[in-house]
Amino acid sequence: MSKEWNIETKAVQAGYTPENGAPRVMPIVQSTTFKYDTCQGIADLFDLKVAGHMYSRISNPTVEVFENKMAELEGGVGALALSSGQAASTISVLNICEAGDHMVALSTLYGGTFNLFRHTLKKMGIEVTFIDPEMSADEVKAVFKENTKLLFGESLSNPGTNVLDFEKYSAIAKAMGVPFIVDNTFPTPFLCRPLELGADIVIHSTTKYVDGHATSVGGMIVDGGTFDWTNGKFPGLTEPDESYHGLIYAETFGSAAYIVKARVQWIRDIGCYMTPQNAFLSNKGLETLHLRMERHSDNALALARFLEKHEKVTWVKYPMLESDSNYALCKKYMKAGSGVLTFGVAGGSAKAERLMDSLTLAETVVHVADVRTGVLHPASMTHRQLSEAEQLSAGVLPELIRVSVGIESIDDIVKDFAQALKLI
Ligand SMILES: *Cc1c(COP(=O)(O)O)cnc(C)c1O
Repeated sequence: MSKEWNIETKAVQAGYTPENGAPRVMPIVQSTTFKYDTCQGIADLFDLKVAGHMYSRISNPTVEVFENKMAELEGGVGALALSSGQAASTISVLNICEAGDHMVALSTLYGGTFNLFRHTLKKMGIEVTFIDPEMSADEVKAVFKENTKLLFGESLSNPGTNVLDFEKYSAIAKAMGVPFIVDNTFPTPFLCRPLELGADIVIHSTTKYVDGHATSVGGMIVDGGTFDWTNGKFPGLTEPDESYHGLIYAETFGSAAYIVKARVQWIRDIGCYMTPQNAFLSNKGLETLHLRMERHSDNALALARFLEKHEKVTWVKYPMLESDSNYALCKKYMKAGSGVLTFGVAGGSAKAERLMDSLTLAETVVHVADVRTGVLHPASMTHRQLSEAEQLSAGVLPELIRVSVGIESIDDIVKDFAQALKLI
């Protein structure tokens, strides 16, 4: 029934329906393990013959509520919560890519994801080709190889706020027979629905707007259930898994094969599952997702308009500004611009740092998507491990300040930037 609800109702209600007399809010089930009456009961769980909780490294009732709600918000067939967004990116790839394989990713990625793909996956024998968003579809197709297993991009990139051209990249992925994995952290399912726009798998750092209150690091993988894993490229899903007595995921779990495999194979073995406490807090965040995302977006647009007119600001990048190069894509694919904007200060890096130190309401934090307004200088912080060329290809300029616009009064936020700009 809840499948028919509008997204605001799902944000509040989906994922948990209490039984008669049960707690209205799913409690934090702080238990590592679950009791069964018979040995056979537990054996059936181990053999994946029945669904149920047995150990909180693999599943937990509180985490499951959060997973179910995220699956409904994104419109997927199943979801898996992880200990961080980085874990979500890692497992989303390792679930279908192994040593000797190749994958393609947009170059405009979060710094942590870029490092993972560029350096760590390489050490594991997975080769990644980064593509520039300016490349034509034919140029992108030309980098695909026989062993290419996926295409990866961010719906709204961090920190460059580039909007993903869903039509272009989903068509490429389809033509090349690989799944299209989209990191939807910045817009959240309230502002953008990748699975309805041609993505096959959606991932999140729930640390950001999903939690929204800067309390809990977490990640999520949502499976759209639409990709055909039986096209010959994905033996991990179509050939027997010896660690489950020869079970074949695509046969046994059909459209949910990818997400079941990620849990029962990767989380079983690697163990980066979300804790019940973090799932409880993140799920609480979701209850106000729609209200927060509207206010974050309204405030960010108003601040962007203010900064655009200021003489000490050389440029402003926010996808809902009419002057922005991403405006058309944002209008096409997103309900609003989300809460992150970037701008350049006249005078470069030194002035940018002075401006940040002069802000009083907006604090310098290595975080986005909090209800509190925060600022960051990516070149010297989140992206400092990248080379200068890598920074530029990720859209990180030396004078760039990233603002995560909070949900405070917009008048107070604008006043704070106005007084700080006066001081530099
Ligand atoms: C923060 C972030 C990540 C990594 O998430 P963590 O929860 O910090 O591990 C991945 N992708 C994007 C777009 C992010 O903003």
